[in-house]
Amino acid sequence: MIATSSQAAEPLCPRCKGAGYLVRDVPYGHPEFGELVTCQCRAAEKQQLRRQQLLTMSNLGPFSGKTFENFDAGVPGVARAYARARKFAEHPSGWLILFGGFGCGKTHLAAAIANQVLRENLMTVLFAVVPDLLDHLRSTFGPNSEVEYDERFEQVRGAHVLVLDDFGTENATPWAREKLFQLINHRYNYKLPTVITSNRKPEDIDQRIFSRLSDRELCDEITIIDAGDYRRIAPAQRFEQKKQQHLQRFGRRELGT
Ligand SMILES: [Zn+2]
Repeated sequence: MIATSSQAAEPLCPRCKGAGYLVRDVPYGHPEFGELVTCQCRAAEKQQLRRQQLLTMSNLGPFSGKTFENFDAGVPGVARAYARARKFAEHPSGWLILFGGFGCGKTHLAAAIANQVLRENLMTVLFAVVPDLLDHLRSTFGPNSEVEYDERFEQVRGAHVLVLDDFGTENATPWAREKLFQLINHRYNYKLPTVITSNRKPEDIDQRIFSRLSDRELCDEITIIDAGDYRRIAPAQRFEQKKQQHLQRFGRRELGT
């Protein structure tokens, strides 16, 4: 395998000669004399491992390619949400709620936030598609698997940054509603950074949850208006759409034609 040969060819770390640790450089008699410290090379490895673990935990799998760089911020209607999402990714705090129709780009933005936070910080980031999350919790919930269930719920509840994608489309059984409420309420009480996307109208959301989403001190709510179907339109079509919208707004003369 290529990986094996390149691994073998990798030069040893010049600091520790591959040992992974160094003896502290202090004079005899110093309280730390003779102590071993982890070499930078191993520390970087550990960080890389931690990053990998966080990525696996994040559940970002199919969304790991969605970044701000490959999001078309020029699509009509998304500019405010895009700018706000970038700000959130730089300094995750408070709640960001993105409302918008199917295919408007809100999931892409939410995933871009999660990917950036994960890349730049060693934080636990969790990307959860709400209906899937509830299915998962339901399937592990039972007399024989209570521990596993609690662990998962605990992980989601306590993540440094949590993305709840596709909120409001879940099967609203009383059990699901209660679980979601517990989750939202915990994040609300501790003011934990949370991103929520939904294609529901705000007023269609469970009242107890809606009242928390309405807290303007914590939540920033943005509705992506009339963005067209972000996912399905090709760049050429997007350009044409933008041109038409521009024409409608400003008339033909301003385009210089
Ligand atoms: Zn080293």
